[in-house]
Amino acid sequence: MLSASNVLICDEQGTIQQIVDEGEAGENVQKLKGVLTPGFINCHCHLELSHMRGLIPEKTGLVDFVFSVVTQRHFREEEILNAIELAENEMLQNGIVAVGDISNNLLTLQQKQQRKIRYYNFIEASGWLPTIAQQRFESSLYTYDRLSPISSASVVPHAPYSVSDQLWQLIKPFYQNKVVSIHNQETVFEDELFLQNSGDFARMYEMMKLDTSFFKPSGKSSLQTYFNRLSNAAHVLLVHNTFIKQEDVTFVKKERGIEDVSFCLCVNANQYIEQAMPPIDMLRRNGCRIVLGTDSLASNWSLSMMDEIKTINKHFPDIPIEEMLTWATSNGAKALQMDDQLGSFEKDKQPGIVLLEGLDVEETASLHTAVLKRLF
Ligand SMILES: [Zn+2]
Repeated sequence: MLSASNVLICDEQGTIQQIVDEGEAGENVQKLKGVLTPGFINCHCHLELSHMRGLIPEKTGLVDFVFSVVTQRHFREEEILNAIELAENEMLQNGIVAVGDISNNLLTLQQKQQRKIRYYNFIEASGWLPTIAQQRFESSLYTYDRLSPISSASVVPHAPYSVSDQLWQLIKPFYQNKVVSIHNQETVFEDELFLQNSGDFARMYEMMKLDTSFFKPSGKSSLQTYFNRLSNAAHVLLVHNTFIKQEDVTFVKKERGIEDVSFCLCVNANQYIEQAMPPIDMLRRNGCRIVLGTDSLASNWSLSMMDEIKTINKHFPDIPIEEMLTWATSNGAKALQMDDQLGSFEKDKQPGIVLLEGLDVEETASLHTAVLKRLF
């Protein structure tokens, strides 16, 4: 964090020229009160679910939440497109310049073509039954072929509990050398499924009337069961990590190292769905790269990185503001492979410029009163 005696110089498009000392900056220097930060990177969102804002009751638990999304997501297309546009506007106003977006259909295509925000599109393949693997894979490829000409894209596994072995084999070649996201250990039942084939996921499959007799539990945690299937990926984005344990992080370090792995926190979504909070201190102690995401409006009250930071601050008041801003900016840009342009104030980058008016980095209480103004 630079001191107040520095001046940020940019051109009229917001491209960074240099940072100089006040004495060398010449005239017409604009003085601002607060903190200047590069634009925010929202590493996990589902823009296509924006029309579900306020629809699903809070604190039902993940299994009922997922079931509600699957059964209630269908609306008139016009309503969905309208909600997508509003949600993107909300992100722009909240200083977000790039999004890792789960795109399982083409409803967001039109909005993304306007290129107001940079996207990394994660097209999720899902299907627990081995018999539907081929069909689900082809449908993901169809979406991939249409989104990849507009912005970065990869075909990724939805979650450990929703991708069969057969489907994993099919998608593997399509995430080679790409960023791959996966919903990881979002609920305690995920580990239970892989350890002993019990818990709420068994109940969900029952609700969905699936015959799961093919499934044999590995006897290991969810992450330790699937993680090495991602060895082809250039970068792994583990999303949620609400119930990740030290043994899992140790496993990641041993199998891959943590340089090309990011741990995405979506704390407001965890609060919305089941009032849970990920083990952030444990991830910090292990030197993990932490990034932030809002998840979708189906499970959040807003699409705002500052709202995520405020919630983290309430539960972990000792984490410095500076560190959380790093998660929301440069760490996120690295995770989405957009750090050539975004995430930091460096010459020739165009990262977006956000003023957090009234923020004092020494005083975490000021997080809750600061006013966000997007300058570029
Ligand atoms: Zn999600």
